[in-house]
Amino acid sequence: MTQLLYLQDSYLRKNEAVVVAVPPKGIMLDKTCFFPEGGGQPGDSGSISGAFVSDTRILDGDVVHLIREKENVFQVGDRVCCEIDWPKRFERMQAHSAEHILSGLANSIFECENVGFHMDDVIMTVDFDRFLTEEDLLLLEEKANICVYEDHAITCQPLDPADQRPFRSKLEDLKNPRIVTIEGIDRCACCAPHLSSTAQIGILKILSFMRHRGGIRLTLAAGKTAYEYFCKIHKQSSQVGEILAVKPTEIAPAVNSLIEKNKSISYEKNRQFERLITEIGAFLPNDTENRCVCLPDLSPEELKTAAMLLKKDVRGLVVVFSGSDPEGYSFAMTSAFVDVKTLTRTVTAALSGRGGGRFDVVQGRFNASRKEIETFFAGLKGNKYENA
Ligand SMILES: [Zn+2]
Repeated sequence: MTQLLYLQDSYLRKNEAVVVAVPPKGIMLDKTCFFPEGGGQPGDSGSISGAFVSDTRILDGDVVHLIREKENVFQVGDRVCCEIDWPKRFERMQAHSAEHILSGLANSIFECENVGFHMDDVIMTVDFDRFLTEEDLLLLEEKANICVYEDHAITCQPLDPADQRPFRSKLEDLKNPRIVTIEGIDRCACCAPHLSSTAQIGILKILSFMRHRGGIRLTLAAGKTAYEYFCKIHKQSSQVGEILAVKPTEIAPAVNSLIEKNKSISYEKNRQFERLITEIGAFLPNDTENRCVCLPDLSPEELKTAAMLLKKDVRGLVVVFSGSDPEGYSFAMTSAFVDVKTLTRTVTAALSGRGGGRFDVVQGRFNASRKEIETFFAGLKGNKYENA
């Protein structure tokens, strides 16, 4: 069995070792400072005598350092130098120790059990077995950060049988558990390397939460990850603040008032559009059966609104279309008396178009000239609706 040096010293970055086996995909050593994935924390990467170690896993009960085949030139008995990717490991220890603080406090304050923990290199998620309100989470986050500032010692030791203090554990039946103790805050069985004191976490932030399997799932960032996250958010807030001429901490009310202003502009624009179409309607002849009107540059939504406004007092169809002869026309067709959906096929077949909609309004495109469209609708009379 490989001697796991990180269990005694989680700050050990390098060690010398002897290759004891060369299984497929990697090598096994007599001792290692590489942590194999476990307890929600990914396995270490790094290098072994110049070969890149992409990950470290437990395979068949022992530690395997994963190395690509073409770099794996090792033989049993070789003496090698191991070195972990320390910045990455340190960031993970910051995250994992932060998770223990949060889970310990959630347990002591709200009687929540941690039922899931996952970490990738950016953020981590923690699941608790009961839901917590936003207010609870603010309190939890505040207490956790106070624990960081107070710089509590963190120790990792095999359980002392004489020590009767309780500890958290996801497993019921633990033989020789290793207990991670955050003095005055938490005791938890855990196999992973941890920081030696809470101040090294720097900061812990709950980024979001959602209901999850009858409890809650939190997304967290701690340490360097939290700092980098803050930098990204701050950069964007500052840019938005500059555009809106407010401080980065005041962008939410500024954006809200911008949204309100936009709503009233668009309301006013719609009212003006409706007034304009009603005015146009007053000038259109009433003695024809169908109304077929070409208006410039209307969106599908505007075509529909215009058609609905122009159908008052019209016995036949109202068709509003917009576009150009070379590119074709978008249209909306409606009627106060005729089910326009049943007419769609006749109309689109005659004008090389396509369209669809409901009994009261149909929209689509015509690939015909303006003249062809106007001529077609001028000739379409009541008896032809019935034949359609
Ligand atoms: Zn743990």
